[in-house]
Amino acid sequence: MNVLVINCGSSSLKYQLINADTEEVLAKGLCERIGIDGGMHTYQKKDSDKVKTQVDMPSHTKAVSLVLEALTDPANGVIKSLSEIDAVGHRIVHGGEKFAKSVIIDDEVLAAIKECNDLAPLHNPANLIGVDSCRELMPNVPMVAVFDTAFHQTMPPKAYLYGIPYEYYRKYKVRRYGFHGTSHDYVAHRTAEFLGKDIKDMKIIVCHLGNGASVSAVNGGKCVDTSMGLTPLEGLIMGTRSGDLDPAILEFISGKENLSIGEMLTILNKKSGVLGLSDGVSSDFRDLGEAADSGNEQAKAALETYAYRVAKYIGAYVAAMNGVDAITFTAGVGENNISARAQISSYLTYLGTELDEKKNAVRGEELIISKDGSRIPILVIPTDEEMSIARQTVELVSKR
Ligand code: AMP
Repeated sequence: MNVLVINCGSSSLKYQLINADTEEVLAKGLCERIGIDGGMHTYQKKDSDKVKTQVDMPSHTKAVSLVLEALTDPANGVIKSLSEIDAVGHRIVHGGEKFAKSVIIDDEVLAAIKECNDLAPLHNPANLIGVDSCRELMPNVPMVAVFDTAFHQTMPPKAYLYGIPYEYYRKYKVRRYGFHGTSHDYVAHRTAEFLGKDIKDMKIIVCHLGNGASVSAVNGGKCVDTSMGLTPLEGLIMGTRSGDLDPAILEFISGKENLSIGEMLTILNKKSGVLGLSDGVSSDFRDLGEAADSGNEQAKAALETYAYRVAKYIGAYVAAMNGVDAITFTAGVGENNISARAQISSYLTYLGTELDEKKNAVRGEELIISKDGSRIPILVIPTDEEMSIARQTVELVSKR
């Protein structure tokens, strides 16, 4: 069964065509600058070089039609006709409290997703445009919605409620939702498999450290807490997002600098995190590492503050689960950044675990990076959200 996985943003569309039987990625690509002049389609067939085509895409439907043309292209395509696409899996950012699992998309589901748009005004409408465009061009192909928030719906109220008047939860569903759920789910399950254990018997802390970053506590395969909140702004210090802070800071800075709440939120989302902390060096951990190595004190301080915050969350989640059996790093920084992993792990020796420097010197591979004999293993498990979406799509579509 071939599954087309679509991740549609407001001006971009990422895709992969996956043969779900062999789990081979047949082709993948990215459409950028949709609805803006100067569009670019990057297409890459398995075992081939990337092909970049400059092409304007006035709408998402145009972008999807270009993707379908590329996949079926007689010279460079990977399928003969659209009938070889058996299902489409869509990444949807926010499923609110309505969706605790992936679902087959129908009109009722679409209406329910739209009701969650308020909670993710930048993401959900864009995700839905992707669904509409695919339905228009492939009306008979089953589509599945896979939500970033769904895995975290098992959190108990003590983990998802904020200490504010309850009426805001009752009226507006203001609560912690959490994001990166597909990744946390995939990585937690893979951690248990890799260790040869049943996930039902395990307490796992997953650190998804990318440009966006979040930690989750997974007890018996179920998420019991996670660091992102109503929006992805809460929790860890990220590439450009602030993570946790005293909410009174908003009023204080906006008063001093004469800024609106909207402007303040742009600062917290786009100009903070390690970018802001490093005094503008970069949001990219490779650049920050290089700057720190060549003596930039502010870059060094940003990396230290980042690692300290991750370590504090790990400590909090050990407490939340009254123990931990494995700690796993994933995503761009977690999979590749040797020094960030070392800095974070230096706070974890109280757990009876110590990093093995040699093992930690590896990038992007599934492995245990703590020393043999450590009481708690520290692992690296590369995340694969697209494969997880494809698997969930197949599971639902085969049951129909
Ligand atoms: P993601 O959002 O998961 O793609 O992660 C992006 C982050 O991962 C960026 O800050 C990158 O600097 C970081 N990253 C990716 N590859 C490496 C690498 N080889 N070494 C250090 N950091 C990396």
